Amino acid sequence: MAQYDAIVIGAGAMGGAALYQVGRRGARVLGIESLTPGHEGGSSHGATRVIRISYYEHPSYVPLVRAAMTLWRELESTAGQKLMHTTGIIEIGRPDCELIQGTLASARHHHLQHQALDAKEVMRRIPAFKLPDDFIGVWQPDGGYLEAEAGIKAHIDLALAAGAQLHTNEIVRAVEPHGTGVRVTTDRGTYEAKTAIVAAGAWAKTFFPDLPLRVTRQVLGWFKPRDPAPFAEGRFPVFMLESPHGIHYGFPLDDAGLKISKHFHLNETVDPATCERAVSAADENAIRAGIAGYLPDANGELLEAKTCLYTMTPDGDFIIDQIPSCPQIILASPCSGHGFKFAPVVGEILADLAMEGTTGHDISRFRLARFN
Ligand SMILES: Cc1cc2nc3c(=O)[nH]c(=O)nc-3n(C[C@H](O)[C@H](O)[C@H](O)COP(=O)(O)OP(=O)(O)OC[C@H]3O[C@@H](n4cnc5c(N)ncnc54)[C@H](O)[C@@H]3O)c2cc1C
Repeated sequence: MAQYDAIVIGAGAMGGAALYQVGRRGARVLGIESLTPGHEGGSSHGATRVIRISYYEHPSYVPLVRAAMTLWRELESTAGQKLMHTTGIIEIGRPDCELIQGTLASARHHHLQHQALDAKEVMRRIPAFKLPDDFIGVWQPDGGYLEAEAGIKAHIDLALAAGAQLHTNEIVRAVEPHGTGVRVTTDRGTYEAKTAIVAAGAWAKTFFPDLPLRVTRQVLGWFKPRDPAPFAEGRFPVFMLESPHGIHYGFPLDDAGLKISKHFHLNETVDPATCERAVSAADENAIRAGIAGYLPDANGELLEAKTCLYTMTPDGDFIIDQIPSCPQIILASPCSGHGFKFAPVVGEILADLAMEGTTGHDISRFRLARFN
């Protein structure tokens, strides 16, 4: 039977990064992916993802974003391609809303470069916005977006070049402790390894049914702006905007259109196997509601829309931990709708846990014990 140092289950954003980080350390590592990398059934498709450092969710994420930014730059340099676009980010809302309060708290706590701007100044700098007088914007020059699908491909290509193996279209049925190691059973065979990393995204509960994870359906929309000029990269940054319609976010215009979504969308709990993938008028309306009043020229024809999945924990923080009863099995569920930007540093943490049993990164916030 094939013996490995580590087996990585799932080759999406986190599994791809883990495969690379384990493989580059010279370990014998096998990735097993039930579909093919780049598929549109999980959480990582849709071309781009926001990267932001003044983290509204909690200041403790800031050191991790910094580490991720360094690793994205390293990946760009090793892969010889641009993956991170630093457009700056504007986060907009009423001064007392969660997005603004949290963004300012992180920026102040970590002394991040930022500017708080009144509505008039936001509209002067970024004329596409039409904002009520009582809204403000927090400008943070280090934010931007990642080329998500290209980033996953770069990790996997470099992992394979470093000697990692990847089996695609192979479904892992079980992962269980076996002596001091693990046994992984798939629809094609059985493998043994010293350790396994479960990075199965929305399918994590297949392996750990008792975890408090909830998969939700999300929708990404690409709009044709009525006037494209104000939305061009260079004039229009990545944005997040909290209004009575929720938190909406979007990107500068690219060839596919103006990508805009509603964070958490309709908050529908779904099963990834049966989730409705078609996009409805209600989906479209939920996105349009957040832009009609604030970005009126963005509210043009819907060119394309895709569904995607968030895997939510009750507190919105990630799970990255060894399973307490069998620490040779490591679970990575860094989603809750904001995990992509961390993929390279999560890969590094997973490689640390798999190869050393510990990591120098602070993952205390992500431990399973918090659910006891
Ligand atoms: C619409 C949307 C917008 C988002 N926007 C942002 C953003 O702007 N910024 C940000 O940082 N994050 C964002 N996120 C979150 C981010 O995309 C996710 O945190 C991240 O993609 C999760 O990666 P993953 O590796 O856990 O899951 P995935 O990339 O889905 O990978 C899981 C993989 O496991 C495989 N798998 C599952 N079961 C098995 C099995 N039994 N055997 C073998 N393989 C299996 C699946 O096929 C899949 O390929 C967004 C997410 C969505 C859905």
